[in-house]
Amino acid sequence: MQFEVKKRDGPGRIATLTINGKKIVTPNIVYLGSKNIKPPKHAEIVITKNPSKRDFIQIQNLGSFFHQSKQSKNAEFTTPASLIYPYSLPDEFHIFSIKENKSNKWFIWTGKRADLLKNKKSNVFILANATSIYPKSKEFIETIVSLRENIGYQKIVYLPGVANPSNLALLTYLGIDLFDNTQAILAARKKIFFSNIGNLKTNEIDQKICNCPACKPVKNHSEMGFEKLLQHNNYALHNELNLVRNMIKNARLRELVEIRCRNKPELVEKLRILEKNHYKYLEERTPIYRKTVLTATTLDSLNRPEIVRFRKRVLERYEKPVFKKILLLLPCSARKPYRFSKSHKLFRETLNKVKNSAIIHELIITSPLGIVPRELDIVYPANSYDIPVTGYW
Ligand SMILES: [Zn+2]
Repeated sequence: MQFEVKKRDGPGRIATLTINGKKIVTPNIVYLGSKNIKPPKHAEIVITKNPSKRDFIQIQNLGSFFHQSKQSKNAEFTTPASLIYPYSLPDEFHIFSIKENKSNKWFIWTGKRADLLKNKKSNVFILANATSIYPKSKEFIETIVSLRENIGYQKIVYLPGVANPSNLALLTYLGIDLFDNTQAILAARKKIFFSNIGNLKTNEIDQKICNCPACKPVKNHSEMGFEKLLQHNNYALHNELNLVRNMIKNARLRELVEIRCRNKPELVEKLRILEKNHYKYLEERTPIYRKTVLTATTLDSLNRPEIVRFRKRVLERYEKPVFKKILLLLPCSARKPYRFSKSHKLFRETLNKVKNSAIIHELIITSPLGIVPRELDIVYPANSYDIPVTGYW
């Protein structure tokens, strides 16, 4: 098993995972396969109890500690039969399961005492209690952050049971590499239609909103049965995955996270907890410079590590040049760096006419950065950001 990170954006990353000569890109979706549920054609990695000879990577789930399945020759890997205690049980149970559970390439973790995972040699860490931890935003974020911090950057994190098109961007931004389509299956059973603005009940969709191969032949989404709906939900998840990868490549994952978080209060909650309680985790993984324009369109943009970092550095590290005696406050401009804008060129021309203009200290007032000293207007992100301008101050 070979894992190579190719591109990073915050804690999120694109990597290649090679297993037995079969190469896939992460983040990726692990599709569940059974006698009744077939993985979609675009599946590259499938988890099943009964692997058969196929092109995609197959992981065999060996079941529970108490009822272990027989290992198949067709599986590239097996997830070891493990003892999984509910997340709510005291730490002693989790410590016992970390010590007793077999660890091969894949390790099943119950969600507590990530510090004990430090020396595990496994390549993939699966969070077994993901569905019960996920709704508790504070604990969930804490669990993922402590897992990543303890296992390091070269390991793969697999979060089963929770991915949907609304949360995929945020979960990737947190540093998770593998997801699965459990929610797509459960939603299809409940006649719920995946969309990138959230989950919709099929009987509430009056106008057709998707033309994927599953939706194309039907007149109305409400007539779609389980199989067609699952096919659509899998496509929706797959499309969002591709979008997430594109955004990482273009260093714009954070923008997508802020857009998708509007779909559900619990997503905004998770993003805000991540920024408030684990700022260091985010900041250490956020680049100092990007080639792309930083788009700040939501209140959450104010807490982006790039922006908080700039504000903090101006407050804590910046010192006014000693020869500057007069403070001049200026508004920002749409064009960046400000010095190349029409208005700032005019300011400069006017200042040049003033005797001893060198003693004037120019500070530009702007949202979301606060105050930008003239000397720093060529520094990222002051030199490259975009915000809505209403003219109201
Ligand atoms: Zn569709």
